[in-house]
Amino acid sequence: MNGLMAGKRGLVMGVANDHSIAWGIAKALSAAGAELAFTYQGEAFGRRVRPLAEEVGAKLLLPCDVEDEASVDAVFDALKAEWGGLDFLVHAIGFSDKNELKGRYADTTRANFSRTMVISVFSFTEVARKAAALMSEGGTLLTLTYGGSTRVMPNYNVMGVAKAALESSVRYLAADFGADGIRVNAISAGPVRTLAGSGVTDARLMFNFQKKNAPLKRTVTIDEVGRSALYLLSDMSSGVTGEVHFVDSGYSIMSMPRIDELKE
Ligand code: NAD
Repeated sequence: MNGLMAGKRGLVMGVANDHSIAWGIAKALSAAGAELAFTYQGEAFGRRVRPLAEEVGAKLLLPCDVEDEASVDAVFDALKAEWGGLDFLVHAIGFSDKNELKGRYADTTRANFSRTMVISVFSFTEVARKAAALMSEGGTLLTLTYGGSTRVMPNYNVMGVAKAALESSVRYLAADFGADGIRVNAISAGPVRTLAGSGVTDARLMFNFQKKNAPLKRTVTIDEVGRSALYLLSDMSSGVTGEVHFVDSGYSIMSMPRIDELKE
């Protein structure tokens, strides 16, 4: 893998700490020779992200709250000033009020529906457009989704609806930017113990169910997601765009546990 991303520069959005999926991706990209910039949401996260950014030799560390358009603009202005262009972008950002990540989807409020959509869906479209404007030589964009987009997962609720819209955005953006040599893909990761992941009520039970019922009989690590991201962000996947790629120990192929296990 070494050298696969040599000479490539990219922005990683969504590292909160060393458990973040974005951090698994950043490590794989850095090991493959990429130069990275990071964003962080507010100073409390900044204090955690700074040492991680230093660990992979990143010099650009920028505040960004995707609810604040000016802060998004400032990130891309800084990238333009420092690098002049961009080769790839990782969007690993999602949020919903955890009081609504339990109970019935039907009870989602208007306010949280809108906020979830802006942070978890629209932000990808917005950063994709701004990143694409810096990709005169072509490039790659990647976001993170979850299987609750197409099948009902208990308590995932409005996040599932948001992920469905995010996956659709991936396809529309891939069509918009394809002629410019810019590819757009998503990884649908199995459950990972992260800050965002633990916001879903009874996440531990979903985690254990996945371990029991996925073909590989385990969950995935952020390093495994990182290596698949490396494929999608590098020239190894030069013919792939608009794709949602599962990295979930095979969970998504199952409709029910194996019959012999039901008899146990
Ligand atoms: P995480 O908590 O480590 O990362 C979520 C990130 O979103 C944080 O860095 C947070 O700062 C950022 N964020 C939230 N609101 C923001 C805002 N307004 N502006 C800027 N940044 C904001 O959790 P994670 O699990 O690594 O999540 C990364 C992505 O992966 C999310 O899109 C999540 O839905 C997705 N995902 C997670 C899992 C899982 O089980 N953990 C599975 C599949 C997909």
